[in-house]
Amino acid sequence: MAAALRGRAGPGGAPALWRVQSRGRSTFDVVVVGAGIVGLAAARELIQRHPSLSFAVLEKEKELAHHQSGNNSGVIHSGIYYTPGSLKAKLCVQGAALCYQYCDQKGIPYKRCGKLIVAVEQDEIPRLKALYERGLQNNVPGLKLIGAKEIQAKEPFCRGLMALDSPYTGIVNYKQVAQSYAEDFQEAGGTILMDFEVTNMEMAKESSPGSEDGLKYPVIVRNKKGEEVSCGHLLTCAGLYSDRLSEISGCSPEPRIVPFRGDYLVLKPEKRYLVKGNIYPVPNPRFPFLGFHFTPRMDGSVWLGPNAVLAFKREGYNLFDFSTGDFLDAVTYSGLWKLVLRNVSYGVGEMYRACSLSAQVKQLQRFIPEVTTSDVLRGPSGVRAQALDSDGNLVDDFVFDGGTGDLGSRVLHVRNAPSPAATSSLAIAGMIADEARRRFEL
Ligand SMILES: Cc1cc2nc3c(=O)[nH]c(=O)nc-3n(C[C@H](O)[C@H](O)[C@H](O)COP(=O)(O)OP(=O)(O)OC[C@H]3O[C@@H](n4cnc5c(N)ncnc54)[C@H](O)[C@@H]3O)c2cc1C
Repeated sequence: MAAALRGRAGPGGAPALWRVQSRGRSTFDVVVVGAGIVGLAAARELIQRHPSLSFAVLEKEKELAHHQSGNNSGVIHSGIYYTPGSLKAKLCVQGAALCYQYCDQKGIPYKRCGKLIVAVEQDEIPRLKALYERGLQNNVPGLKLIGAKEIQAKEPFCRGLMALDSPYTGIVNYKQVAQSYAEDFQEAGGTILMDFEVTNMEMAKESSPGSEDGLKYPVIVRNKKGEEVSCGHLLTCAGLYSDRLSEISGCSPEPRIVPFRGDYLVLKPEKRYLVKGNIYPVPNPRFPFLGFHFTPRMDGSVWLGPNAVLAFKREGYNLFDFSTGDFLDAVTYSGLWKLVLRNVSYGVGEMYRACSLSAQVKQLQRFIPEVTTSDVLRGPSGVRAQALDSDGNLVDDFVFDGGTGDLGSRVLHVRNAPSPAATSSLAIAGMIADEARRRFEL
């Protein structure tokens, strides 16, 4: 049977150490699939609100936050970009405040190093001003527009005509945050089963006569080794596989997930002085991605990127990673073709830049002309789970969804939790817990 983990905080706020523990029970009131930051935040919130119920998290990997939550830019976003009134806007602004508060409580290090969104061409200025207005509508604290001189005062090596200054933006190690959520969850009595890849879920056929468990825990969740866990209700937070989990439960396969790989470059240590805080471009309004940016990390390094390239494998972190199943899944989906046909030149450009270091450095030189190809190294990659509808539209907002029938009504799926879901994780967790109480009558 899969192994359960128990966390112990490392000294001085260092990432927690984890050791394997043997598993006990296999029936739970609520099971959460996925130990990314969203699943763990939701599990923590649920167990804190319902201490008399039993909870488990099932995760297919051997470590927590192994995918998106452990391979991202590490930025605590302030909530500037998102459509006023959208879940993204609301949950990001709330989530950033909760994230800072949580890190303070737990002694998790973060830096409120701020961010500049920089316009380097005249035609970007109207879009920058529109972003400023949007940020004000979203109640982002401390925003102001600054000119070339103030840009240089904040970022001496950065050039620009005008910038949106967001002093509230910060950085943190989200893997450490996710591990801390897991620790809270376990301390409250929750169980985490690692190496448990959910491949099947169904309603128990018939409860054996007199069996209380059969009535109370009618949902059976199995992994590919044939091991099973029974529960009353199920929440899935499966990131890159959220559509597959939904399909397995008999809920809608749409929106489908399309993986977009993001490759980072890393600034050589002797060049880190070029960057103080986050420096972002004015984003292309046609895409939900924020553009190739300069981001300091908690370990002192500086990451540059990420780009956004259609990936041929959902968890494929290298340029040539390929999965026949994922590839066929993507190319047989009409929504993907519509997206590709509408954005051929952008897609080809991103592919070219992914292969060419000098093309990526050219993007960076728009902001910091001193950066050269000899100052950077190829760095890690992350893969974004981006939901796509059948008309080829990238689904921008967070999406939560359930189903009908015996099984569907016992399941809640987090279908789309793109950036800034790490920032928003505690606020998303609150919303999930409200929804779970409503749907499942917890
Ligand atoms: C390159 C990149 C940069 C980003 N930058 C930022 C940023 O700076 N700030 C920010 O706020 N957000 C950022 N994001 C977004 C953020 O990282 C994600 O929105 C967030 O991590 C999503 O968390 P999640 O728990 O939904 O998904 P994940 O972290 O992907 O977790 C899903 C989990 O489900 C598990 N799982 C899947 N299928 C199964 C199964 N069948 N059985 C059991 N387990 C399963 C997976 O193994 C995984 O652990 C970035 C994302 C990327 C990729």
